[in-house]
Amino acid sequence: MRTITIIGGGQSGLQLGIGLLKAGHQVRVVQNRTAEEVAGGRVLSSQCMFSNAVAHERALGIDFWSDTCPPVQGINFIVPNPDGSGTKLIDWTGKLDRDAFSVDQRVKVPRWMAEFSRLGGDLVIADAGIAEIDAYAAEDDLVIVASGKGEVGKMFARDAEKSAYDKPMRALALTYVTGMTPREPHSAVEFNLIPGVGEYFVFPALTTTGPCEIMVFEGLPGGPMDCWGEVTSADQHLETSLNILKTFLPWEYERSKDCQLTDANGILAGRFAPTIRHPVATLPSGRKVLGLADAVCLNDPITGQGSNNAAKAAAIYLKRILDHGDRPFDAQWMQGTFDAYWDYAQWVVRWTNMLLLPPPPFILEIMGTACAVPKLAHRMANGFDDPRDFFPWFADPGAANAYLTELRAA
Ligand SMILES: Cc1cc2nc3c(=O)[nH]c(=O)nc-3n(C[C@H](O)[C@H](O)[C@H](O)COP(=O)(O)OP(=O)(O)OC[C@H]3O[C@@H](n4cnc5c(N)ncnc54)[C@H](O)[C@@H]3O)c2cc1C
Repeated sequence: MRTITIIGGGQSGLQLGIGLLKAGHQVRVVQNRTAEEVAGGRVLSSQCMFSNAVAHERALGIDFWSDTCPPVQGINFIVPNPDGSGTKLIDWTGKLDRDAFSVDQRVKVPRWMAEFSRLGGDLVIADAGIAEIDAYAAEDDLVIVASGKGEVGKMFARDAEKSAYDKPMRALALTYVTGMTPREPHSAVEFNLIPGVGEYFVFPALTTTGPCEIMVFEGLPGGPMDCWGEVTSADQHLETSLNILKTFLPWEYERSKDCQLTDANGILAGRFAPTIRHPVATLPSGRKVLGLADAVCLNDPITGQGSNNAAKAAAIYLKRILDHGDRPFDAQWMQGTFDAYWDYAQWVVRWTNMLLLPPPPFILEIMGTACAVPKLAHRMANGFDDPRDFFPWFADPGAANAYLTELRAA
């Protein structure tokens, strides 16, 4: 039995903690918010998770919402016509082979905190600083920092080689609503790309009050969708959301115009720089700690991958810990553990970072071709579940051309 402390009880920290408990280890999770504070607090994510990520939760028996959460069954990609006619220039839908789910973290995290305690885990409610983390490292075999965007994650130095940007690439906002007209004939992430303005996506989810839809706004900094600074109330936030839809996406406005907020905390506005950090940090005592998920690999939410990555990273770290037996968790093992995750995550990061730039002509051609070639639409939709499948054809004009030629000839 190993003694392990995890700083941060979010998607990755609690999933890993529960996995370690189930394998017979002694685990402490340090979480800076009580279950009540999480449940009654602000939304922090839209957390749409595709089936490979959900499978990791299922393997641990903690996908408690698969029967009650409305499924996301496809991806609908839309580019409005730039002529201002209110019509769609590009519009294709790919059905997901297996459903995706978005369970509000205000629902999931408190339930997982209870499950962690029920399984015998030591749940400490405290905001861990460097001194506390150093004390845990002195006591335990291993300390993992899974603090998401929390300040303490800055103990891991930014990796300039792996970080493509040093500033926020989008002004982000979330609006959780009820009363939206359901999409027909099946549910989907409606992913609208408005050139020069930003992206808007919307999909069904389960929140504290039941089923809802989550609106996600990704505005280009300084552009018309970067408009949340003046908003001072929840009602104004909803009004601003609807105004954006009315101006740029009339089909979305039509299905949303009678929406209500799920609750006054079902809103968020903010921005952050996507950042990859070195995964091993040295504490004042000289002891080492390992970073997990967003703490060391933080992506813009444009591709909806953060929770998916967190679940996949937690599963990889769990296996690496279990496979390591009684040996010490030294810096080399820590780096190797992150590298095992990076083998996968580097493709997600590359794909996500590409979508933050104006699409080059070959990407527009791929997107346009998908309207006429359902096989391509299907592949792109299911790529959200494993973005490695986008390479090389979504990243290289030559490979894209060869693939499109092959598809058209088929
Ligand atoms: C607007 C927006 C939309 C998103 N949409 C999606 C999406 O559709 N799909 C998707 O997959 N991802 C999405 N994400 C990303 C996703 O929410 C995160 O990537 C994911 O939650 C990261 O998991 P994590 O375990 O690394 O961190 P988190 O889930 O953030 O958990 C970190 C935890 O650590 C705690 N903590 C922090 N510091 C300390 C400390 N010092 N001591 C103790 N506890 C601490 C925090 O309170 C928190 O509970 C979105 C993010 C944003 C901002």
